[in-house]
Amino acid sequence: MALLVQKYGGTSVANLERIQKVADRVAESRRKGNRLVVVVSAMSGVTDGLLKMARELCKDPSEREMDLLLATGEQTTTALLAIALQSRGVEAVAMTGAQAGIVTDGTHTKARIANVTPQAVQSHLKAGRVVIVAGFQGQTMEGQITTLGRGGSDLTAIALAAVLKAERCEIYTDVDGVYTADPRTEPQAKKIGEISYDEMLELASTGAKVMQARSVEFAKKFGVVFEVRSSFNELRGTMVKEEAKSMERVVVRGVSLEKSQAKVTLVGVADRPGVAAKLFTGIAKAGINVDMIVQNVSLPTGGKGSKPQTDITFTVPREELPKARKFLEPFRRAGWVKQIVFQEGVAKLSVVGIGMRSHSGVAAQLFRALAAAGVNIQMISTSEIKITVVVDEGMGAKAVRAAHREFRLGGREGKR
Ligand code: ADP
Ligand code: ASP
Ligand code: MG
Repeated sequence: MALLVQKYGGTSVANLERIQKVADRVAESRRKGNRLVVVVSAMSGVTDGLLKMARELCKDPSEREMDLLLATGEQTTTALLAIALQSRGVEAVAMTGAQAGIVTDGTHTKARIANVTPQAVQSHLKAGRVVIVAGFQGQTMEGQITTLGRGGSDLTAIALAAVLKAERCEIYTDVDGVYTADPRTEPQAKKIGEISYDEMLELASTGAKVMQARSVEFAKKFGVVFEVRSSFNELRGTMVKEEAKSMERVVVRGVSLEKSQAKVTLVGVADRPGVAAKLFTGIAKAGINVDMIVQNVSLPTGGKGSKPQTDITFTVPREELPKARKFLEPFRRAGWVKQIVFQEGVAKLSVVGIGMRSHSGVAAQLFRALAAAGVNIQMISTSEIKITVVVDEGMGAKAVRAAHREFRLGGREGKR
């Protein structure tokens, strides 16, 4: 009997009708003889609603209590799905993350899984029950409830699939696979048949929220092959797996856009050893999520004996801008930095593909396409398989379209 781990995201369990549909699917799979662990998210909008309520009470609610609060969303769904299955005569048991053995570190709101002790899940499976597990949550060794970061139910599913050595891991969502761009904003986007872990990881960490980035990292580490597919139809989805030689033929696999970003420029930073270290250590300690750091060439400030200075620009998620402002202001007052410029309303556009390792000229091609579309590039950063540019947020969709068209992603899959 095959062991399957299935995960149903928020829209797939958005209301009772959809929960009934999921119960039908699960019951059918069980009747075929499969053993099943089903991970569920909170009903769509519930996590956001809980966050909003807490923030109405307090601007900066304590993270321990936030975890306790947010974990209730997933628990509701597990219990409802188990009840729906039981009413169909299918033996099912609902479990919290803690009951399912998800042990995490103590970093509230973005805890890391330390280990999984699957004995309880295994004994329910052995007794013939479908095990429904609350995604996105765990418990520390000390018994504190934690959550795994937004989109974290994906991680619960992948971790359970790894530990239980499941034959299949299926991530059911509201699109029928991973597309060359977000199909909601790019009408030309095409479904990808298979994608490597590295490409999926880069896309997920640059705005393609179809998978939580950390879950992909985990899948890569433990070699969990998984399929992203729709809970609304029977179509085959996208396989995410180890890269194969043939995958390199595709230069650009997909395009992603991360909106709601902000740019911070530190003008006139003293150019001597230790300054950047001090600034960024402090920024990290303040919990500010920095990306795309660019340091300009160092120039003397003029005048005899003047010390060289440089400019540093980086991006942060827009909601972290107030924290960054509060943290950086004392550095300006103390004379470490001459001036600080904060700019909201920017977005990061990324093109991703492992084929970039063996093809040259991809960056130039992207820049030409953006220029032709009238999109101004504000910052650039590249890695082996990714090119990211910062653009005006209002031009984001246009930039995606231009890149998508340039690399012919809307035609036959990935053809250049
Ligand atoms: P779930 O609630 O099932 O976890 P999410 O909302 O987290 O679902 O992720 C699915 C959404 O991801 C889709 O509705 C789609 O708009 C978005 N998305 C962004 N980029 C992509 C992409 N490249 N391929 C598919 N979906 C994408
Ligand atoms: N409910 C959580 C969220 O909205 C986790 C998840 O859906 O994966 O982020
Ligand atoms: Mg998700």
